[in-house]
Amino acid sequence: MILIVDDKPENIIALKRILEKNHYQVDSALSGEEALKKVLKNSYDLILLDVQMPGLDGFEVAESISGYSKTQDIPIIFLSAVNVNKQFISKGYASGGRDYMVKPFDPDVLILKIKTFIKLYEQTISLQKMQQVLVEEIEFRKQAERTKDEFITMASHELKTPLTSIKGYMQMVERSFDKDLKDDARKYLERTRQQLEKLNILIDDLLDTSKIASGKLDFRNGVYEVDPIIDNAIDIVRQTYPSHAIIKTGRAGVDIYGDQLRIEQVILNYLTNAIKYSPNSAEILFDVSLISNEEVLINVTDSGIGIPKDKQSELFTKFYRVEESSNRFQGLGMGLYICAEIIKRHHGRYGVDSEPGKGSSFYFTLPVYPQQV
Ligand code: ADP
Repeated sequence: MILIVDDKPENIIALKRILEKNHYQVDSALSGEEALKKVLKNSYDLILLDVQMPGLDGFEVAESISGYSKTQDIPIIFLSAVNVNKQFISKGYASGGRDYMVKPFDPDVLILKIKTFIKLYEQTISLQKMQQVLVEEIEFRKQAERTKDEFITMASHELKTPLTSIKGYMQMVERSFDKDLKDDARKYLERTRQQLEKLNILIDDLLDTSKIASGKLDFRNGVYEVDPIIDNAIDIVRQTYPSHAIIKTGRAGVDIYGDQLRIEQVILNYLTNAIKYSPNSAEILFDVSLISNEEVLINVTDSGIGIPKDKQSELFTKFYRVEESSNRFQGLGMGLYICAEIIKRHHGRYGVDSEPGKGSSFYFTLPVYPQQV
């Protein structure tokens, strides 16, 4: 749209006629003040600006327009009946104008100029947009690079911790053998085994995360009774963490369709998190139930540190860790992200209910097989 600024309505009418004949949309202002208001409110492709006006003259209007970042690139053509000396023309350019035409002017020349300036303006705008996209893209790369570097540092640290422990325990094993203390040696070997298991889980999680990213997390699906999968997972955790009691209630008594090892992986993850994030309590509740005979619902409840409400929606995203507790507990923020992917692939749902200082209850569901229609 083109804005015509002139204090004489008859001039506006004449210009409007020429422009509309050439299929331009037109708006008008009868004073410099009105023009400034309109320019800030609407968006124009070009302004035809009369120089002599009572109040703000054309040069002052042009100066203001080129001073606002939103409007600084709008092309302005001055129209003037007098003041054709060079000094005046230079003033017109200095105040932000692109051209200076003296009345009476040839309508064809005016239209040619308008076309050229609008084209230039459009090109300027698309160049600016492109530049903006490029700047954002570069920033996004840079950001991805930083995240990757941080992750590598954290992952190396996480891998190093069990390795350092293993080294230490192996020395203790050697010493115990030297002193013929077989029971001690057995104890340290058991601790070594636990650290190796930690290392194994970490490496599996890293591999799973990269498989999810490349869409290659594989599933060996079949129809399985769900209760034995649950009982097996609970047994594994009870053996690994004799310090905690896992109190199980409920039974599903149904089949599900999916990958039993992946489902076991989700249960192990929920349970080990419940243990890890409740250092001052030794009891974890595990409940299985059915929702309308359509879904198996599994709930793992701890009385641990809990999670602030505003952080709960992020827990299942990649590498997310609750800041308040991240220094106190080791981890990489991959476990729940992998769980979410596995549950989604089984067409289940997941979520958490938690209160800081009181504990957390993590749940997930799996559709019963065969699904009743
Ligand atoms: P990690 O434990 O390695 O950080 P997870 O993906 O398993 O990664 O968990 C993501 C985050 O969710 C954890 O860092 C922790 O802040 C929070 N979280 C998970 N489970 C619990 C829980 N039972 N109680 C409190 N916070 C939890």
